[in-house]
Amino acid sequence: MRKVLLIFIDGFGLGENNGKINPLVRFNPSIFQWLIGSPLSVAATPAFNSKACLVATDAKLGIAGLPQSATGQTAIFTGVNASAVMGRHIQGFPGPSLAKIIAEHGVLSKLRNNGFRVTSANAYTPRYMELVKARKRRHSVTTLTILGAGLKLRSVPELEAGQALNQDITNEMLPIVDVNDIPVISPALAGRRLANLAKDHNFTMFEYFQTDRCGHKMDWDKAEIITAVLAEFLTAVYETSENELLVVVTSDHGNFEDLSVKTHTYNPVPTIIWGPECRSVAANIKDLTDISSAITRYLEG
Ligand SMILES: [Zn+2]
Repeated sequence: MRKVLLIFIDGFGLGENNGKINPLVRFNPSIFQWLIGSPLSVAATPAFNSKACLVATDAKLGIAGLPQSATGQTAIFTGVNASAVMGRHIQGFPGPSLAKIIAEHGVLSKLRNNGFRVTSANAYTPRYMELVKARKRRHSVTTLTILGAGLKLRSVPELEAGQALNQDITNEMLPIVDVNDIPVISPALAGRRLANLAKDHNFTMFEYFQTDRCGHKMDWDKAEIITAVLAEFLTAVYETSENELLVVVTSDHGNFEDLSVKTHTYNPVPTIIWGPECRSVAANIKDLTDISSAITRYLEG
């Protein structure tokens, strides 16, 4: 059974090989040095080696202006160039037009309709559901993708059972949304839990967005913490995936990799892939719209 784990990191681009602006170069987490032989920057691409592949993935999609989340994520999770369809990059949360594209082309529903076992590892809190119900917040592209496939959102019981991850990886932020009594876990334990969950499914996705928030705040202290969390988390995913999972790490647009600006960037994003056939999968990914089709082709073998 083929199995794919997609780790989607919001606002995580491939920047300059310059530690003055790029925390991924300044802090140079060992996992990237180990996987690709150098810091994670545009200078490292493309890399095809025995441990992993790294390709620079275009997020501009042929449309002027800074790449944004709603259209970029729709491109990743549907394969449709949503920016071209809408005529611009759209930030934040999708409106009715993008929601329609997601409903028609969402990768989770396509895979599920073709008999694959699919899931999202993210836990949604009761607070989140209340805010959506009260129309105080809108679902993200990823959430619409999950719901569009008829899947139930994982929540607190799954978190307690080690069968889901909080968006921050370590559970530290849960008390902010009134979820108490869930222990803080190490990024390594979260990584093992995610990889083990992925071994029970054909396709598993996980979304992390603290990178985008940190980039908008240009917060170097937080960036150092995030870099360390991601390094430990991805290391554990790598060790637990044991060549059984094809792991794809990617993003919707740049931001975190340039803390000299508070906006998104025009940089490409990294697509880092390891596991069976990672070379041929990586070779097919040029821009955000190629990701879901590359994963689908791999699963269909
Ligand atoms: Zn953003």
